[in-house]
Amino acid sequence: MSLLPFDQRDGSLWMNGALVPWRDAKTHTLSHGLHYASMVFEGERLYDGKIFKGREHTERLRESCRLLDFDLPISDDEMDAAKQAVITANNIVDGYVRAFCWRGSEMMAISAQQTKIHVAVAAWEWPSYFDPETKMKGITLDIAKWRRPSPDSAPVHAKAAGLYMICTLSKHEAERKGFQDALMLDYRGYVAEATGANVFFVDAAGTIHTPLADCFLNGITRRTVIDLARSQGLDVIERHIQPDEMASMTECFLTGTAAEVTPVSKIGEHSFTPADVCRRMVDSYSDLVRAG
Ligand code: PMP
Repeated sequence: MSLLPFDQRDGSLWMNGALVPWRDAKTHTLSHGLHYASMVFEGERLYDGKIFKGREHTERLRESCRLLDFDLPISDDEMDAAKQAVITANNIVDGYVRAFCWRGSEMMAISAQQTKIHVAVAAWEWPSYFDPETKMKGITLDIAKWRRPSPDSAPVHAKAAGLYMICTLSKHEAERKGFQDALMLDYRGYVAEATGANVFFVDAAGTIHTPLADCFLNGITRRTVIDLARSQGLDVIERHIQPDEMASMTECFLTGTAAEVTPVSKIGEHSFTPADVCRRMVDSYSDLVRAG
């Protein structure tokens, strides 16, 4: 598959207050964000021309900035306007929006108090090829050797670049072994999440279980799916889950802006059969994102 590199595309993106030609949206190699991971971002999805929960993503971006000890230098309305400008300029109807902030080049050391905070928004076409039958086959997950860090080891609730280092390592290892993604445990050994999505299980009685989001991203999709399930009369329990409990679970699925609701057929040695609950969640999430 030939990939069109992300720095060699046509169109415009928004950077520090204005639309700029896509290929010119550059930052210097000596940037604090690049060297010290002082960078936060959002992944948002656009359905039928409208971002799903765009304001919630902006609020999370602001919170991620705060957790990395800087302020998002624009207002919520300015951020919404920037996203809309990029979507309009690039004529995107079904796509992905990436809003992000990073510390600039004024200081190149641990302390970064005087660095400029840069903000940019990009968006690209990304239709959701909604084929429920393919989805229902489920994906396979390795169990990562890397663990989600404790809340006193990292700003675990930020969507921050640095937290993805172990995700990329885990996903590469999984792909080398023939899996599609990896399940990460947390620092205590409980089930945490996949490398870029939250995880849910269904037991034989039809109750849904999902790990407490106490040391990883409490995904916007995760919260949406919990509400959807409860509104349909399903029981959802947020709790600590031991890895060996997976043996008694019948269904499993991931949730995330990119993953939407993705059924899982295997995690390590444990097999699951995507069935009624997966199908209901896949379908109702798909209906909801297009309803707005
Ligand atoms: N965990 C991680 C590590 C992620 O990267 C994502 C995707 N943003 C999620 C969970 C799911 O979050 P959301 O539903 O807000 O996209």
